Amino acid sequence: MTMTRHPDIDDLSAFALCALDPDAAEFIQTHLEYCPDCLAIVRDYRRVVGLLRFTAPLYNPAEHVKARLLDRVAAIAGSTATTDVLLQEHSK
Ligand SMILES: [Zn+2]
Repeated sequence: MTMTRHPDIDDLSAFALCALDPDAAEFIQTHLEYCPDCLAIVRDYRRVVGLLRFTAPLYNPAEHVKARLLDRVAAIAGSTATTDVLLQEHSK
């Protein structure tokens, strides 16, 4: 495959957050298959993204809220759950 230009650094960070539109994400996914430099950047961003959950203050939701959330997760897990599905559910 021919090397194309490197994606913009902001697009790499957005990719790590699953915040790109499908066409842009596909371009980067393809690029990462042959560009170890960009792959290393995305992996670093994903490590940081993985740590973000530890920066949020602890919150104990009401039982009915927790039950509703777990019902939604169970429904999604029963289908073909992906990050995109979870984000779509979250934005409703
Ligand atoms: Zn690259």
